[in-house]
Amino acid sequence: MAAAFGAAESTTKELADVRIAYGGILDDLSAGDRLSGAQIAELKALRRQLALSERHSLETQEAIIRLGEKALAEDRAVTLRQSHDLVRTDLGAPVLQSREDPSITICPVCAERGLRAPLQPHQRGTQCPSCKFTYQNQANDAPAELPESTMSGR
Ligand SMILES: [Zn+2]
Repeated sequence: MAAAFGAAESTTKELADVRIAYGGILDDLSAGDRLSGAQIAELKALRRQLALSERHSLETQEAIIRLGEKALAEDRAVTLRQSHDLVRTDLGAPVLQSREDPSITICPVCAERGLRAPLQPHQRGTQCPSCKFTYQNQANDAPAELPESTMSGR
């Protein structure tokens, strides 16, 4: 986050510098003056610098928005971890279970991304509606599988 704020600060300073330089040229001119070749070249250079600074400013704003979204997702992940218990399915796969009654089982992988994804019934057990992770039931007709193979779809 500090890097983005530093970039925002330097971008603001860049824009201010361009504005001051532009103002300096205008101050040098009096009514009826014609622009010299050097002044025209300087104005063109300033216009290019302004365009670059504006693009830089936009990129910095986007970076700050992305950081804000990431921080929000991390906050939501912490809230989900605090309001759910880590339990294991019949076959040993870790899932998160809410403490309300009746409890709701959510996908721990999506919870880490700040998403509350209640597992949905699936032909072989339950499935995350978001990442499509499948948590198999022991009652499954398929031959017994090792716990490591209970998660699929990754
Ligand atoms: Zn998921």
